[in-house]
Amino acid sequence: MPGILVLATTKDGRLTRDTLELLTGASRLKEKLAQPVAAAVLGTGLGLYVPLLFVHGADQVYRAEHPLLEGYQGDAYTLALHQICERAQPTVVLLPGDVIGRELGPRLAFRLQAAFVSEFIDFDLDQTSGGLRFTRSAYGGKAMAVVQPRVDTIVATAKLRTLKPAPQEEGRTGEEIRVDVALDASQLKTHLVQRVQEEATGINLGDAKVVVSGGRGVHGPEGFRVLEELAQVLRGAVGASRAATDAGWVPPSWQIGQTGRNVSPELYLAFGISGATQHVAGISGSKHIVAVNTDPAAPIFKVAQLGIVEDWKAVATTLIQRCRELTEK
Ligand SMILES: Cc1cc2nc3c(=O)[nH]c(=O)nc-3n(C[C@H](O)[C@H](O)[C@H](O)COP(=O)(O)OP(=O)(O)OC[C@H]3O[C@@H](n4cnc5c(N)ncnc54)[C@H](O)[C@@H]3O)c2cc1C
Repeated sequence: MPGILVLATTKDGRLTRDTLELLTGASRLKEKLAQPVAAAVLGTGLGLYVPLLFVHGADQVYRAEHPLLEGYQGDAYTLALHQICERAQPTVVLLPGDVIGRELGPRLAFRLQAAFVSEFIDFDLDQTSGGLRFTRSAYGGKAMAVVQPRVDTIVATAKLRTLKPAPQEEGRTGEEIRVDVALDASQLKTHLVQRVQEEATGINLGDAKVVVSGGRGVHGPEGFRVLEELAQVLRGAVGASRAATDAGWVPPSWQIGQTGRNVSPELYLAFGISGATQHVAGISGSKHIVAVNTDPAAPIFKVAQLGIVEDWKAVATTLIQRCRELTEK
């Protein structure tokens, strides 16, 4: 039976939050299309993830174990996922809107002769044709585009942090399908030479409830030390604009925006960030945005609920001091 297929990604014995978000999208699609939800999990030692996928909404799990699938590799994943799709015959394949989905999506769509929809934020059924329509942002978030594929098979990446993670339903189970993928090292055109694990300290940016972000207006890497201190007292994570990451003040993985990460914290604090559309595209899921900028005409004030026209450092250091006083009481 045709269905909805989600690519599951895992980390340290858990399903990633991205996967849980895709499962939410898949269960909404299940309601609209009346088709089951399947998940594909690729790698080695995958046994523990199968029941987790069931309790989070998968009706079937395609489990592909192969040493060449240990760790993401574009060629190997494309070949394996294509083989799973040939077996599962999905009508919609959902991938995360990150570097994996951006690489895999078009490659898989080409092989399946499917339509490719990138970074959708919503979907519904067209009243007239009954076909699926996806909404995605266009022109760096300045406009919304509605895309209706003309073919029956669709590969789509979901913009991360726009869907809520799928809740857990204890006792839920499903069908596990083992797939013996035919993969050979000679089929891989690129080889992973080295995997560099960035030193992860503190709270993950994508999961943080508070994000303290800095831009060019912070005037250098030492400014980010102050923002790190503030993030620490607020139990949050530090992000940055592309101007700050391009300048080498902070690692590229801290970049938020169209070509960086999407964040959806309860509180987003923007220090010395002008609010270019490409930056704002990554923070639109934030519940409250507070901006500090010396320029009263800065575009960030158009999206902020609270705007402070002031030097960033004066505000950041006052906040650190005041939060410390409150927590030490
Ligand atoms: C294809 C494409 C993709 C892009 N993707 C991204 C992306 O993913 N993320 C991203 O961020 N950008 C992205 N950009 C870049 C984006 O267009 C902007 O150039 C960038 O966001 C600007 O960063 P900024 O706000 O830190 O710097 P600026 O625009 O230079 O703003 C600095 C701000 O700091 C303020 N300021 C200066 N001094 C102080 C002070 N002492 N206290 C308080 N405020 C002060 C200034 O008034 C100014 O508003 C992309 C661009 C392109 C073309």
